[in-house]
Amino acid sequence: HAKNKSEMHYQFFNADLLSEFTTNAEIERDLHQAIRGREFELYYQPLMDLKTNQYIGAEALIRWHHPKKGVLYPGAFIEIAEQTGMINPIGEWVLESACKQLNLWQHKDVNIAMHVNVSARQFFSGNLYEQVWRLVTRYRIKPKTLVLEITETELMGDIRYAINLCHELAELGVGLAIDDFGTGYSSMKYLKQFPISKLKIDRSFIMDISSSRESREIVSAIIAMANALNISLTAEGVETKEQEAFLSSSACHHAQGYLYSPAIRVNDFAQFIEHHTTWVPVEH
Ligand code: C2E
Ligand code: MG
Ligand code: MG
Ligand code: MG
Repeated sequence: HAKNKSEMHYQFFNADLLSEFTTNAEIERDLHQAIRGREFELYYQPLMDLKTNQYIGAEALIRWHHPKKGVLYPGAFIEIAEQTGMINPIGEWVLESACKQLNLWQHKDVNIAMHVNVSARQFFSGNLYEQVWRLVTRYRIKPKTLVLEITETELMGDIRYAINLCHELAELGVGLAIDDFGTGYSSMKYLKQFPISKLKIDRSFIMDISSSRESREIVSAIIAMANALNISLTAEGVETKEQEAFLSSSACHHAQGYLYSPAIRVNDFAQFIEHHTTWVPVEH
């Protein structure tokens, strides 16, 4: 039956269903091929400045065009890549692709920051600084437009090493953001020793803003802390106008989420940004 066939076809390309009956060993095997076969692609999600109503950045998010399984999201493979060490070549590819793209944007006077996720293994690999230095030089990137996102839990793995590396990166001029802030176990005592330029409040807090007074209080407290420390703050996972209104009125700096756009392909992103700047007047 044609109908059954199309149903099978649908299931075959549904990443959620598939991840359940794909073994880690299969994914590991396919990851080797993925790098050689150029099966990865970076998608970009815009970052909104809540004060000026302008897009001021993009977060690069990896997607895997698996030849048999369709598009796979990082949730399906990043952890395995991390465990097997495959994250190192993947992470290098991500950084290089993001820097290449940033260079293209800077040539076209698209003035936005590029956020790149760095995993723990990549962070502690021993050559992150060298990699970043080489890329910033090679692609003539204004260092502060490159922002590395690292989770608190990662930083707390080896605090001394992490503090040193962050200071070196900060001296190079690149931005450092703590990702998924609020979900880890970092203590304020350690956190203030890092030369952090940005915090990103985890989506789980934003999700409950409209329904939970407690979540609103937590978000307000984090905003106040960030302001006191002179760190800019991004709310992740903003999906509704209501959430945006609360964040704006609480003086949260930046927002990211499906309310604006999911992560999209590079050409769509260029169009998206262009469209927006055509229609929204810049405040002076
Ligand atoms: P993250 O860095 O916290 O990225 C934000 C995630 O939230 C992305 O999921 C994004 O698509 C999703 N998101 C954004 N706005 C919304 C929203 O309004 N609602 C909901 N429900 N979700 C939203 P994605 O792309 O699946 O990535 C998941 C995680 O995988 C990332 O979390 C990051 O930790 C990791 N990741 C993604 N790309 C890379 C990469 O290139 N390298 C490394 N090491 N990790 C990556
Ligand atoms: Mg991130
Ligand atoms: Mg995040
Ligand atoms: Mg998150």
